[in-house]
Amino acid sequence: MADARCAQCGGNVAVRLTGPPLSCSYCGSDKPLAPDVAARVETLRVDLERHKGRSQQLLGKQVFAGVVSSSWVLTLLVILWGGVITGAATCEPLPKGHTTFATLSGPRLRATDPTSRALVTKWWLLYLPLTGFTFNLALWSVMRLRGRRVIRAALPRAPRAAGAPLRCRCCAADLPEGGAIRRCAFCDADHVVLGSRYQKEQTSLARELDALQSQVGRTLADRDRTATRVAAIGTWSPLIALLAMPAALFVPRTYPVLWALPASFVALTILMLVLTAAGPSLPRIRSLGALGVGDQIIVDTRRFVAVAAVEVWPTLTFPVVQRLVVLRDARDDTAAPSHAVIVDFDAERDIHSARLFEISAAGTALSARDTQGENALRRYAVERAPDEGWADYQALWIVPTIAANAFNGLRCWAEAPQVGATPAHTLTLAGVVAEEKLTLIGA
Ligand SMILES: [Zn+2]
Ligand SMILES: [Zn+2]
Repeated sequence: MADARCAQCGGNVAVRLTGPPLSCSYCGSDKPLAPDVAARVETLRVDLERHKGRSQQLLGKQVFAGVVSSSWVLTLLVILWGGVITGAATCEPLPKGHTTFATLSGPRLRATDPTSRALVTKWWLLYLPLTGFTFNLALWSVMRLRGRRVIRAALPRAPRAAGAPLRCRCCAADLPEGGAIRRCAFCDADHVVLGSRYQKEQTSLARELDALQSQVGRTLADRDRTATRVAAIGTWSPLIALLAMPAALFVPRTYPVLWALPASFVALTILMLVLTAAGPSLPRIRSLGALGVGDQIIVDTRRFVAVAAVEVWPTLTFPVVQRLVVLRDARDDTAAPSHAVIVDFDAERDIHSARLFEISAAGTALSARDTQGENALRRYAVERAPDEGWADYQALWIVPTIAANAFNGLRCWAEAPQVGATPAHTLTLAGVVAEEKLTLIGA
């Protein structure tokens, strides 16, 4: 790693853009950088300040990387196209004595008599979806590689020495310890920690500053935008092959040379798959909406463990399931659950937020009115029996307080309550936390 030289004593000074003011550890100078380096660092610092926040964070973007690398997209692709191709192969039988393989692989055909007319139609009916499918496959593999690139861009910088903390890819300050996803305490950039893989090391100071500049200037949001664009093309353009299928009835001849097109798509797919297989395996990155029992979540600066989850329906007239996740302090295994969250997702703006509730004991007793009406007491199963915290809770009896079709408070009983019974827990809305202040750390 490249260090700057102290302007006074020539000792090594580790450059970073944030954190406590730089000073020389040898001579104690508080202005150790040469004027030109100091000016460059200051420009970068201002840039970082301007860019910092959500654009360098994985939340939201991680959904894309997760979806693209999962195999269900590929399975869906094979099923859908498989259906179309089978349909095209069986819709109209070939004339007697001809096989599909011989028709497709044979020499050029001309539609001069009814028999060869049928063969030409069949050729095109199969050629079009086969090309669409291979094109789709190639785009999917490009998309997958792009998605991984977004994640790779989030690798941290190497530590200064063996055993020293990893460093922020944007500001070069030391990162906090622990977890596969780490957020810089100084500039808020997210990092994916994959064992000993880091951003490329630079040996000259000028290149090191260039590397920081490219990290600051090209945010994860920018990188993700490219990936999303490829995904959009991947979804819609192969459909052209389907829309063109009726034209198969009118084409007068076949062109076997056109097989080069699907063949090159297959070659591209294989190349991309080899490239992705050669890369590092990625940690399981999930969206905040997938917060489950056993996961850890950082809310603001506090780290919690999810100990129980309950699916709750707010009202009969607005039946949207909201998932209430009960949290306890992550640093203290014996602590009782102190908070709960409901993660909301705004699909239009592609951002999450969390309603944070504080859990307190007791609260207003169950009244006769709470047992009737739309927002009345109801029993909800606890999704998974946790090992700790609310271990005895198989179900919860809940009376929600609802405003604008969302909970802003809940009273919970562990056993079916009688009128007059005080709740075991009362959840009070403590506030709404924006996505940039939330980090999900999978179990
Ligand atoms: Zn010095
Ligand atoms: Zn940083």
